[in-house]
Amino acid sequence: MNTAELQQAFLDIFNQEADATFFSPGRINLIGEHTDYNGGYVFPCAITLGTFGAARKRDDQLLRFYSANFEDKGIIEANLDELVNDPAHDWANYPKGVLKFLKEAGYTIDTGMDLYVYGNIPNGSGLSSSASLELLTGIVAEELYGLILERLDLVKIGKQTENDFIGVNSGIMDQFAVGMGAENQAILLDTNTLDYELAPLDLGDNVVVIMNTKKRRELVDSKYNERRAECEEAVRELQVGGVAIETLGELDSQSFDQYTYLIKDANRIKRARHAVLENGRTMQAYEALQAENIPEFGRLMNASHVSLEHDYEVTGLELDTLVHTAWEQDGVVGARMTGAGFGGCAIAIVNKDKVEDFITNVGQHYRDVVGYDAEFYVAEIADGAKVLSRKD
Ligand code: ADP
Ligand code: MG
Repeated sequence: MNTAELQQAFLDIFNQEADATFFSPGRINLIGEHTDYNGGYVFPCAITLGTFGAARKRDDQLLRFYSANFEDKGIIEANLDELVNDPAHDWANYPKGVLKFLKEAGYTIDTGMDLYVYGNIPNGSGLSSSASLELLTGIVAEELYGLILERLDLVKIGKQTENDFIGVNSGIMDQFAVGMGAENQAILLDTNTLDYELAPLDLGDNVVVIMNTKKRRELVDSKYNERRAECEEAVRELQVGGVAIETLGELDSQSFDQYTYLIKDANRIKRARHAVLENGRTMQAYEALQAENIPEFGRLMNASHVSLEHDYEVTGLELDTLVHTAWEQDGVVGARMTGAGFGGCAIAIVNKDKVEDFITNVGQHYRDVVGYDAEFYVAEIADGAKVLSRKD
């Protein structure tokens, strides 16, 4: 959507001109999966699939939200004085949560807004449409109310919304990537300290292809919480045995190997092993990219998938079919699931000239095995959430 289309769409819905238009990206994670709540590294980047917005400040206390993705919900009305999660407000709980926590943090938001959004990220497929919407709301508020705030604070408010308003127990990676992304750069983030480095994502003759399983989301949240609990329990066992750590991210593969005997359950050993080795792989992948060693970067992606499949056990038939088939194609440097798993998306690094064959072959095999179609998108690496235009 371009800014003229956005302004027109806003006008059609709210019969007024928008004050400004906005874009907030989705994200993929290149490597470093299920490490963010284990105090480890992640390596995501923002993508050009995302959420567009147009907004206007109001004079009263009303909040009016409209999403072109949920037309049947129409305009959802809420009030600035009553920022509580209301199931009847459906998706509008995300912007409500962001406004609530901005106010709580002391930022002055004393009048309402009209907000139009349209997203081209498939919802619930692990490309973080929710973080995209949260950060979009954040920059809308920043612009309309003239707030002066650090981007990192907005990132934290997005996470707070997800955790404490929506009730999803996720780490900070998604909001960080959406908020801090930069064109053609990936972000190496230490989730323990929030130190980060931008790394140019120069893949030579290759592009990133996103493969969407289109699997219905089931059990993701409960399995996610189960994995978190298993890792926490493994940390406790290590602590009881005298290992002075707070998170698995503090162990390297050698020290983990020597203390594995303290963990009393085969599943917990596998979960912890993934967290520790994946963390090491993420740093190695960053270094491979710095050294322009793309083949090694690809092998580390493959290793990440194997670990998520067999040790962390968060893949499933759909993701495994996509990734295993991708590995067999010409011109593929590496492939893995991305996001929380159990469905959602995988990514592959593919030679530019082979992308068409890749999509045909993987798509066909997926249909044969799984029974319905996957979707494919070539990802471009985008800037973090930003203002597109202002009314002059
Ligand atoms: P993911 O973040 O992986 O895409 P989530 O379940 O965390 O999946 O977030 C999806 C939810 O976010 C949607 O159900 C909806 O409530 C909200 N959302 C995301 N994008 C939009 C949009 N463009 N318009 C309205 N709501 C959206
Ligand atoms: Mg989400």
